[in-house]
Amino acid sequence: MRFLEKAPAKINLALDVLYKRPDQYHEVDMIMTTIDLSDRIELSPLRTDEILIVSENRFVPSDHRNLAFQAAQVLKDRFGIREGVEIYIEKQIPVAAGLAGGSSDAAAVLRGLNRLWQLELSLEELADIGARIGSDVSFCVHGGTARATGRGEKVEKLPAPPACWVVLAKPTIGVSTQAIYENLNLDEASHPDIPAMIEAIKREDYQGICDRVGNVLEPVTVQLHSDVQQIKEHMHEFGADAVLMSGSGPTVFGLVQHESRAQRIYNGLRGFCDEVYVVRMLGGRVPLD
Ligand code: ATP
Repeated sequence: MRFLEKAPAKINLALDVLYKRPDQYHEVDMIMTTIDLSDRIELSPLRTDEILIVSENRFVPSDHRNLAFQAAQVLKDRFGIREGVEIYIEKQIPVAAGLAGGSSDAAAVLRGLNRLWQLELSLEELADIGARIGSDVSFCVHGGTARATGRGEKVEKLPAPPACWVVLAKPTIGVSTQAIYENLNLDEASHPDIPAMIEAIKREDYQGICDRVGNVLEPVTVQLHSDVQQIKEHMHEFGADAVLMSGSGPTVFGLVQHESRAQRIYNGLRGFCDEVYVVRMLGGRVPLD
């Protein structure tokens, strides 16, 4: 018996950082949406009482550092489960890219083990448990489109944005999220207008969404990694309607309405960047299998 779950990546249509809290976390205000680029998670019961992570991707940790491992451990501890599970992770989402790959794997494991171990928890309960694993896990449990506040764990659902294509380009550099936050000067930052973005989403106003994308972390990452700025310029040049870095980077995404334009941007960027993807914005739902 195997349980399959899709773990879709997210992009941030808007990302704001408000202040640093006494507990050292940053208070954020983000608009996230899922895209059709997913890891595939396969859960198989084991006779032995252990959590086994299997992945062919050499960047995916196979021990407790893996967020998918932590998700299984938290459920085992909380509900006194004495069964083991093998978690096979077929990685499609680039690792450490600002696309929440690890968080989405953890969320998929929570959803999948809820079925496998017949825990009958609601998505809200799974999202609460997910918040203990990582700030983006709660959003990933629900998927779709949402505003995430607090340290990212308070999720307020939004309607799906109008259908469009997303071109993703990931430069071959590693970005340390911690270093980006350390270099962020909130007094000088230019903050996105989150309420205006929410209004544009509710109006199904594609151009309004494009006009309001913004990420307070982008100038910090650009200053440390000039490749990000170059990719942004190429995306604009090849005709993207909106261009933004996702999360703390380094992945840059461009939005377009027509597949032919997405293909043109893809073809143009292939010369500059090894990892380029064309996917649909999913927005409204999480495909469960
Ligand atoms: P976010 O957008 O939430 O900041 P990210 O997309 O930038 O996340 P991840 O792909 O989740 O980053 O990987 C960040 C680090 O987490 C990796 O360097 C890796 O060592 C570790 N990690 C833990 N679990 C996983 C997993 N299931 N898949 C990939 N990386 C994982």
